[in-house]
Amino acid sequence: MFVLARGGEPLMPCHPARARELLDRGRAVIARQAPFTIRLKHRTRADSTVDGVQLRLDPGSRATGIAITDERRQAGPTGRTGLARRGLITIELRHRGRQIHKGMMRRAGYRRRRRSANLRYRAPRHDNRRRPKGWLAPSLRHRVESTTTLVSRLRRYAPIVEIHVEHAAFDTAAMTGIMAADLPKSPGSTCAGFEIREFLLAKWNRSCAYCGAERVPLNIEHVRPRSGGGSDRLSNLVLACVTCNQAKGTSPIEEFLADRPACLERVIAQLRRPLHDAAAMNSTRLLLTEALATLGVPVHRWSSGRTHWNRRVMGLPKSHTRDALATGVIDHERGDSLVRIPARVLVVTSVGRGSYARTTPDRFGFPRLKRPRGKMHHGYATGDLVAADVPRGRWAGRWVGRIAVRSSGQHRIATLTSRFDVSHGNLRLLQRADGYAYGCAPEMQLSGQRGAAYSGSTLKGGDPGNV
Ligand SMILES: [Zn+2]
Repeated sequence: MFVLARGGEPLMPCHPARARELLDRGRAVIARQAPFTIRLKHRTRADSTVDGVQLRLDPGSRATGIAITDERRQAGPTGRTGLARRGLITIELRHRGRQIHKGMMRRAGYRRRRRSANLRYRAPRHDNRRRPKGWLAPSLRHRVESTTTLVSRLRRYAPIVEIHVEHAAFDTAAMTGIMAADLPKSPGSTCAGFEIREFLLAKWNRSCAYCGAERVPLNIEHVRPRSGGGSDRLSNLVLACVTCNQAKGTSPIEEFLADRPACLERVIAQLRRPLHDAAAMNSTRLLLTEALATLGVPVHRWSSGRTHWNRRVMGLPKSHTRDALATGVIDHERGDSLVRIPARVLVVTSVGRGSYARTTPDRFGFPRLKRPRGKMHHGYATGDLVAADVPRGRWAGRWVGRIAVRSSGQHRIATLTSRFDVSHGNLRLLQRADGYAYGCAPEMQLSGQRGAAYSGSTLKGGDPGNV
């Protein structure tokens, strides 16, 4: 739980049980319902020790994992002192890119329909429109902006001193340096080796380079055999199924593919593709890192290969929040470890702040209903978190939930279990709408079903992973 000092400055987060105790004893008050934040009545920032916390981010297309962690030096199980990373609060931020995309498509459809209904021929317009540099589709821009907004708000509730973000799929610099020494024995046994395997899976599209077989075990194959002086450089490595691997043996690729010239050409062209091209740097990730850098906290960038490796060494199944927890350096050989994973995750869903549209259109895109100009009705706006005291009837009792307002004053409340109408007179405001809906879910329910099952130097081609 987030904790604020008497003056409102962020202090170190505390355990929910501790927050309950402080509230029960009257030493703190509730400062915010969601994310749940308490403010201490007596203690100021000056009399507290604030070590600072790290914010870790795993950006995804549908949801972004956020973890707030602290790190302490302590003796590990092997007796060596390493950094013990504790997960204090985990958050899953759910994006609404799909809804935005659908809304834009619908609007485009209405406009097209209205223009074509004019029934006179119009010559195609001269294409003189330019998109500004760095333009992103609104559905993608929303992902960057909502993540940055949430992070900058979290800075008000927690003393964030560092941001660690999963920035690129692969750490290309690390791979070019280490691979030659690392590969010969077991490519999956170190972090750099693991990145090489993930990189090859992405580069060769998780299929055999020679026959295109998918969802079969794939071996790392030297195009020019090592016995013939071939190197361990990435430009000499392909993925091959067991059959092709054995059929090729130590023969040169020109000989092995002599009867398939098209395939030979394709493999050689793919081999020469430069690292950064094959690694497919993600434009939204780049923009997100740039946006986070403007917040005034140092931002560190990491590869997702490193995150996978950290998670794999600890035997953790995949989820956005666990990926966020595992982002950054965890040097297991030095004795570093991840010692606490919060059991419950705060689920934050982007819900937007309503629509700019002034009318509700019919199915042809022509105005059907006028929408009210203002968002506030009888003191409430859609999305406000309220407590409702219903005196009688089927829904008699006390309820908490978000409301959708109506001009009649009969607002619709959505609680955890039900939806019904309440008069505005029976409502009490807990928190104003801020563009997000908040909920809570056990970590277990959020975990992905796709586990990475790698062993030895054989890779499962069917696992889509996080690439
Ligand atoms: Zn094959």
